[in-house]
Amino acid sequence: AKRSSGNDFIVYEPGLGNTTSTRKDSTAELAAAIDAGELRTVYQPLIDMRTGRPIGAEALVRWQHPVDGLRSPDQFIGLAEESGLITRIGELVLGDACTQAALWVAESPDQEDLLVTVNLSARQVADEQIVEQVSAALAASGLEPHRLVLEITETVLMHDRDAAAATLWLLKGLGVRIAIDDFGTGYSSLAYLRRFPIDMLKVAREFVDGLGRDAHDDVITRAIVELAGTLGLLTVAEGVETTQQSETVAALGCDIAQGYLFSRPIEADAVSAVMSASLVA
Ligand code: C2E
Ligand code: CA
Ligand code: CA
Repeated sequence: AKRSSGNDFIVYEPGLGNTTSTRKDSTAELAAAIDAGELRTVYQPLIDMRTGRPIGAEALVRWQHPVDGLRSPDQFIGLAEESGLITRIGELVLGDACTQAALWVAESPDQEDLLVTVNLSARQVADEQIVEQVSAALAASGLEPHRLVLEITETVLMHDRDAAAATLWLLKGLGVRIAIDDFGTGYSSLAYLRRFPIDMLKVAREFVDGLGRDAHDDVITRAIVELAGTLGLLTVAEGVETTQQSETVAALGCDIAQGYLFSRPIEADAVSAVMSASLVA
């Protein structure tokens, strides 16, 4: 979807040819889709590099449009943020993710470290309601708080520093964990790693991409993993697509890997199935 900024905000609907609609129409359509239950949550397995087994999954939202088919979050998260509908979407995804993770825990009692991660966008972190939402999702599902990891980007942290810090500490107080998504692509200062309650760094796909091929990417990833080790943070390598990347990630000491090599995002039921099986050859 292409977007033009400013007052004449227009969304070019994919699949609708050249038909355009105003932001108001698109917002109404998205709101109706939420009401109609067209949004659902899929999960991409996270692989524990020590055992080669899935340790959990990242929750990713999908819009199953009745006419256009599947819409990826990149096509509607922006609009959801601008319109405020992200609050409702966030509630939905949090609820799904916690309910599913509680189920996986029950199904795989041997998976002590099982976790689920959920993305939070800027608007969600800026809204104190998020603390209530997370708390409600945990209570309703019975999921142990430390199993829920909330992913935020560096840009979100820097957006409204004080408010973000306050919210993160409140969330931390619930016992959940916080991950920095796309680490290394956003903000150049690392001071926030001390100021904010961070538990996990997700090495951005753009660094993982060149592993084993581009010496710079090896050096950057190694530095991130060492930094994380020093600070006692978990590391996740995102976007692992090849065995070479997987081997390099493991050799560098990354704790967890995620990517098409292991699995694309899949339905919750399918995660149940792979949770007890080894995906790494
Ligand atoms: P992200 O958080 O960085 O999520 C990872 C994206 O990379 C996902 O795309 C995933 O399908 C894709 N990916 C995973 N492994 C690979 C790989 O090996 N190669 C490649 N090329 N891509 C891979 P997706 O699901 O389309 O999500 C796009 C973005 O939308 C996410 O980026 C996240 O920022 C946002 N998003 C998704 N779900 C939610 C949500 O529930 N709430 C919020 N606030 N944002 C969401
Ligand atoms: Ca993410
Ligand atoms: Ca990411």
